[in-house]
Amino acid sequence: LDPVLAIIGRPNVGKSTLVNRILGRREAVVEDTPGVTRDRVMYSAHWNGRNFTLVDTGGWEHDARGIHARVAEQAEMAVDLADAVLFVVDSAVGATATDEAVMKMLRRSMKPVILVANKVDDFAQEAESAVLWGLGFGEPYPVSALHGRGVADLLDKVMEVL
Ligand code: GDP
Ligand code: MG
Repeated sequence: LDPVLAIIGRPNVGKSTLVNRILGRREAVVEDTPGVTRDRVMYSAHWNGRNFTLVDTGGWEHDARGIHARVAEQAEMAVDLADAVLFVVDSAVGATATDEAVMKMLRRSMKPVILVANKVDDFAQEAESAVLWGLGFGEPYPVSALHGRGVADLLDKVMEVL
């Protein structure tokens, strides 16, 4: 079985864009695996000759308990089946209360977590991502899922922990 990399984070931070970027670059076969819940979609991906399974999360709606609980619950399910986690944060927005809720859940898990500061579209925006050190997962990896900036370095890092 291939190792599993889960991509988690609150809605709109760019998780699915990052998935497409990772898959598109490597021209991996994109396959929705039937049978998984609609909130989690799995894809076969590869990097530097290694295969892994990407799990995208999302598509969820606010429910009665609010967005924090919903995101944290989805993240928890994905983390359970993952060997490593990409925790994606929007660097332009910074760490929100929802990000903090996810962060606390990730702390309790024993899985390796790589913090991704997405939407760093150019060098000038890199400084903004430094505040994300405050989430306590070490160095944030600045990337632009939209343009591909920093994604190769991120995947090299992923291969070290996966
Ligand atoms: P998800 O809800 O976390 O899966 O986020 P999406 O991948 O659907 O992206 C949400 C929005 O953010 C879309 O409008 C994307 O085009 C935009 N977005 C994603 N990644 C980037 C990025 O690196 N830079 C910029 N500027 N926008 C991005
Ligand atoms: Mg998405």
